[in-house]
Amino acid sequence: MPALVLDPAGLARIARSSRRAAFYCGAVASLEGSLGRHGTRLVVRRGPLAATARALARETGAQTVVWSTSYDAASLARERRLQAALEEAGLRALAVHDAPAVTPEETAAARSDEGGAGYRALGPYTAVWEEARRPPVTGTLRFEHSGFPSDAPPTPVEFGAAPLAEEPSEGRALGALDTFLAGPALQYRTARNIPADESTSHLSADLSFGTIAARTVVARTDARLRDAFLLSEERLSLETFRRALAQRDFFLQLAWFFETEPDQSLQPKMRRFPFLEGHPALDAWREGRTGYPLVDAGIRQLRATGWMHPRVRLIAASFLCFDLGVDWRVGRDAWERDLVEDEPALANGNWQWAAGVGADLAQFPRIYNPRKQARAFDPRGTYLRRWIPELATLPDAELVDPSSSARRAQIALPLFDGSTYPAPVVDHEEVAREFLRRYVEFVSRPSWRGF
Ligand SMILES: Cc1cc2nc3c(=O)[nH]c(=O)nc-3n(C[C@H](O)[C@H](O)[C@H](O)COP(=O)(O)OP(=O)(O)OC[C@H]3O[C@@H](n4cnc5c(N)ncnc54)[C@H](O)[C@@H]3O)c2cc1C
Repeated sequence: MPALVLDPAGLARIARSSRRAAFYCGAVASLEGSLGRHGTRLVVRRGPLAATARALARETGAQTVVWSTSYDAASLARERRLQAALEEAGLRALAVHDAPAVTPEETAAARSDEGGAGYRALGPYTAVWEEARRPPVTGTLRFEHSGFPSDAPPTPVEFGAAPLAEEPSEGRALGALDTFLAGPALQYRTARNIPADESTSHLSADLSFGTIAARTVVARTDARLRDAFLLSEERLSLETFRRALAQRDFFLQLAWFFETEPDQSLQPKMRRFPFLEGHPALDAWREGRTGYPLVDAGIRQLRATGWMHPRVRLIAASFLCFDLGVDWRVGRDAWERDLVEDEPALANGNWQWAAGVGADLAQFPRIYNPRKQARAFDPRGTYLRRWIPELATLPDAELVDPSSSARRAQIALPLFDGSTYPAPVVDHEEVAREFLRRYVEFVSRPSWRGF
């Protein structure tokens, strides 16, 4: 009997982004529709997870309660309470890894010599992941018709959100995946670096809410790779796309094996690095007004659509952590309010990675120069003009550094559409040098090695 327990803590998390809430409600409605076609009904219950699920199990006479596990510390703590409550009531509790394509246990099994621990580095993890993945198990599920009472399903209105024009569903997500694999995926190696094209898969929200399974994405990518007529560059692109799914599983297993506290950096030695909690330019970063067009374009894309191109995410995160010296958690929490996808393990893992405090600690932090990145990956300024209309009429050569053209013309920045574009909030070269100086000083302290 399929059931959905709407726990107040889970609902509060969904409610933090109205776009996310609308997507979630749409996904639940679509699940209800598909269960209806299988002759059953989703039973919704509202209340604290452990007590509500246990009461429902008793009411229905269930012997076993199975759920898809989460990968963030707060939800895992709730699930541990659920397991204890069910076992105390003499019921069987079974948490399954439904989100990843390859479960944490399957990859960890490859290191049984080290007690089956997880991986902290992506390279060795991916090699094992490639070997461990298997075709999805297929079969037919039979449901009992459920006549048990149900609470109201979640609706966008409840979260003050508008319903989405196109309801998320498994059919829509599979269609999007097939369209992607038929064309854009064959150029993915380039597309993942070119923000103007927006031709990565855009599957993150569907993966996060389960309207498509990572196993399905990997299986269909493998099937596409069996096409004998692929060019070698197309094959490499499909393999790179499949590795993006491995990276997703990597961060899920990292959260599963290593995340004991939601807000701790993975690298113990970096936990004391003096990142700042605030900065005079923090609001400018949050609002896309730093005066660095690529950073601002990315943030404005996120605020307008609930999604940001992957390459620009790295550059905007680097700017916050290294140019402004602000803690990665501040950035993660700011984006969480706008992103549609809801994957705390991926947000934590990627933010820590970008800040140089997570997996694969490099010798030096990877500080991106936002102007060089814009020249390299948006040479015609298509992306910048799309998201920063104030700069639309600037010539290509001046676009990445509009303040220099303003200086030359001795004018305040362009007033093309009545709004001005701000001067840079910091001098990138100067602050990046200063950050590196502080970083090197920190890691050279004798006490650092003692952690
Ligand atoms: C600072 C920062 C924060 C991020 N925060 C999130 C987040 O909160 N939620 C989230 O889902 N992703 C996050 N990402 C990862 C990645 O940017 C997004 O998954 C991707 O942009 C989603 O777009 P897409 O579906 O078109 O991706 P594609 O490039 O088409 O990739 C397909 C899928 O692979 C997975 N994937 C791709 N890149 C990564 C990656 N770096 N890490 C883990 N999985 C990946 C995603 O599930 C993605 O949907 C973040 C990246 C950075 C640098």
